[in-house]
Amino acid sequence: MRSVCADFLKGEGMYRMVVETRADDAIFLDRLRDFVATEVLPNTREWERNAAFPDWIWPRLGELGVLGMTLPKEKGGTGLSCEAYCDACLEIAKGDPALSMNVAAINALCVGHFDRFASEEQFDKYMPGILKGEIKLAWGLTEPDAGSDARRVKTHAIPMDGRPGFFQINGRKMFITNGGKADLIVLIARTSDTELSAFLMETDQPGFKLERRINTVGVCASNTVQFALRDAVGWHTPCTFDDAIGLLYRGRLAIAGMAVGIAEKALELTIEYAKERQQFNRRLADMQSVQNMIADSAMELEAARLLLKNGSRRYDAGLPIVKEASYAKLFASETANRVTNRAIQIHGGRGMTPDFLVEKLWRDAKLTEIGEGASEIQRLVIAKQVLK
Ligand SMILES: Cc1cc2nc3c(=O)[nH]c(=O)nc-3n(C[C@H](O)[C@H](O)[C@H](O)COP(=O)(O)OP(=O)(O)OC[C@H]3O[C@@H](n4cnc5c(N)ncnc54)[C@H](O)[C@@H]3O)c2cc1C
Repeated sequence: MRSVCADFLKGEGMYRMVVETRADDAIFLDRLRDFVATEVLPNTREWERNAAFPDWIWPRLGELGVLGMTLPKEKGGTGLSCEAYCDACLEIAKGDPALSMNVAAINALCVGHFDRFASEEQFDKYMPGILKGEIKLAWGLTEPDAGSDARRVKTHAIPMDGRPGFFQINGRKMFITNGGKADLIVLIARTSDTELSAFLMETDQPGFKLERRINTVGVCASNTVQFALRDAVGWHTPCTFDDAIGLLYRGRLAIAGMAVGIAEKALELTIEYAKERQQFNRRLADMQSVQNMIADSAMELEAARLLLKNGSRRYDAGLPIVKEASYAKLFASETANRVTNRAIQIHGGRGMTPDFLVEKLWRDAKLTEIGEGASEIQRLVIAKQVLK
């Protein structure tokens, strides 16, 4: 019932339930904002320099309920609405976009997968540790030859004799967020020429071979890796490829949240700077071409926010979001890239130095146009929906 918008409700009892849930969401988001201001933003440069998050981050995220945002309360999760979950990804991105990306993916694609497809035995074995941050997660779809064309996955899974539910898995995965730190990976593999499904794979096993850390231009604290699987053992979570991939729709809304957070932070910093910096005996904020850039950024950011709200509220109302998730992700990610680019322009030369956060936000923003379906794929999704 949590997933029904107040506007759609008739009964008072239902309305009360939604209002209560939203009050919980607001309390959660207030605590999260404090955490971002005191424990995330002050460390974002250091985490980037170290190309790693500190070990304390996972139990701390667990304590705050950030690792179970998409899991209903009755299953032990935080039980946020989709709207609040996306707002959480937005708030975290204002402190550290790489952390937001990790949290977005872990919740939508890994915890969401457990919620929908794990057996009681699988859930009971792993979920308590996941929620506490003791079992770290990653989601593995992409391969060297299977990116946007996800159905090209070559990694294959064969049922093991005498071990029902367990499969032997061989293949290679690339660009896996948190893959070098993960204890458990939700992995997509081929079960026949025509079918793919998903498996739970522990990384502490001889068949799991970490091949390399992939260094990226942005979101550098995130541990992105390539790994190979040689007769690795995976535990099947029965679902079709479309079922598993369907989790990406809510995931795309969360990446839109990340993009809006990046753009918001960049615009806030730019407005502060434009009010301070003087040239030709005037503040930058008083110059019309600077004002035009700020006006465009503010307007595009507002539009991105509204597309995100529309998508996440539709999800909460139980309505389809295929097109709306793509609208939000596509527009918000391109907005984040334009807004951060203008932010550097307004900061001038200083904007290109590590003394100002806008250069990092600009680099981090790029991921939002690529991860969880590049912009070109979002346009294909939208075109398919509107042309059908
Ligand atoms: C930092 C980072 C973290 C990531 N984390 C994960 C993760 O945790 N798990 C995971 O599974 N994957 C992850 N990915 C992979 C990501 O999802 C892919 O990079 C993305 O889907 C694009 O695939 P690709 O890189 O192979 O590009 P390609 O598919 O080779 O695409 C290259 C270009 O061609 C365009 N293109 C491709 N097909 C079409 C088409 N039909 N029409 C028009 N244009 C097209 C693309 O849009 C893109 O511009 C991550 C990537 C990065 C960079």
